[in-house]
Amino acid sequence: MRLLILGCGGFVGSHLLDRMLARTDVEIEGWDPDRTKIAKHLENPCFTFHQVPCIDGVELRRLEERLVGADALINLAAICNPSQYNTRPLDVIRTNLFDSYPVVEACARANKWLIYFSTSEVYGRTLSSYLKTESNDPDLYELRENQTPLIMGPIVNQRWTYACAKQMMERILYAHHATTGMPFTIVRPLNFFGPRMDYIPRCAGEGVPRVLACFMAALLRGEPMQLVDGGKARRTIVAVEEAVEAIARMLDMPNKAKNQIFNIGNRDNEITMRDLAEMMRDVFAEITTEPKYRSHPIVDVSGEDFYGTGYEDCDRRMPDLTQAETLLNWRPKRSLREILLPTMRDYLTRYADLAQSNETAVAS
Ligand code: NAD
Ligand code: UDP
Repeated sequence: MRLLILGCGGFVGSHLLDRMLARTDVEIEGWDPDRTKIAKHLENPCFTFHQVPCIDGVELRRLEERLVGADALINLAAICNPSQYNTRPLDVIRTNLFDSYPVVEACARANKWLIYFSTSEVYGRTLSSYLKTESNDPDLYELRENQTPLIMGPIVNQRWTYACAKQMMERILYAHHATTGMPFTIVRPLNFFGPRMDYIPRCAGEGVPRVLACFMAALLRGEPMQLVDGGKARRTIVAVEEAVEAIARMLDMPNKAKNQIFNIGNRDNEITMRDLAEMMRDVFAEITTEPKYRSHPIVDVSGEDFYGTGYEDCDRRMPDLTQAETLLNWRPKRSLREILLPTMRDYLTRYADLAQSNETAVAS
């Protein structure tokens, strides 16, 4: 199997390389300006890496040449950091929409299978949040790939730049498929967690990372964990290793995966952000064997203070997983605790210096 992967150096890309390069029948050519998370694969003869963004020009021409012999192109490339949706809206729209558009056209010209990583944010907010009801009617909150309306807030809430760009890409893919027959698969991830997700701010990276790295940074530095808007938002969390297994199954079962949209998440791991903060304190106490972390401070902060003007939250994301279960025979099993334990241990190992300097500062 020959795969092309854009954004192979990111969090999901690094795990997808781990999964696919463990096989002997796969060759991968990848593009990403960043290689820090995939250093261990760089010498692998089955992996060719271009440390550049794949955008219009030389790299796109190279991509087009490579498409000829490829079985599929997986596009993971994105700016997908919520703190940037309203603070760098033009970059978010450019990267997620305009830089991805020529890639779709190249696949359409070559009639190649494009597996596009979209986002569950295309669903926006749930119907129940707009109706201001706590109804238990799944029709009002469950996210079904081919039925649920995609509901985003007003233009002034620039939080939606990302979701809107991704939604437009989905519509472009579908239009190409309908017009030229180009095979496609759309993946809508729901909060993948695992080692190597994002970065610890002020050590690396720009802006505020996603919630896992924010809470980890607070624990490692001995600073309060910040709960946005009361921590009422709910997310479902899936292990990244299980999520990339779903992608491996798509690649192995093209007849089942082509021309489909898949939610990839774990409905059994739904949690509010307040409960997540509390659970992460407990797990951190366990892995550091320091009971004091069980009462680590948690403070409230408004969305506007934390993310800036134009932030709006998705209230809840409960995926219908029937598509992935029936077509791919995929059902994630790992509980949230089973995900957090190895993930938080990994952060603790990688940022041992930070935790150590915090202990030293407290002691002195
Ligand atoms: P990530 O930020 O870790 O990885 C994205 C990678 O894309 C980065 O390494 C970046 O350098 C690279 N990139 C950006 N522009 C590029 C270009 N033009 N060419 C090549 N590489 C480029 O994000 P991730 O968590 O690995 O997410 C992967 C994909 O899944 C993204 O499309 C994201 O929108 C989507 N997604 C992920 C999650 C999740 O839970 N991780 C949730 C929803 C959606
Ligand atoms: N959040 C929080 N504290 C933080 C970072 C994030 O309470 O330090 C909240 C955020 O407001 C959202 C949820 O955690 O409700 C998930 O945020 P994340 O950045 O992981 O991305 P999202 O799931 O919204 O795409």
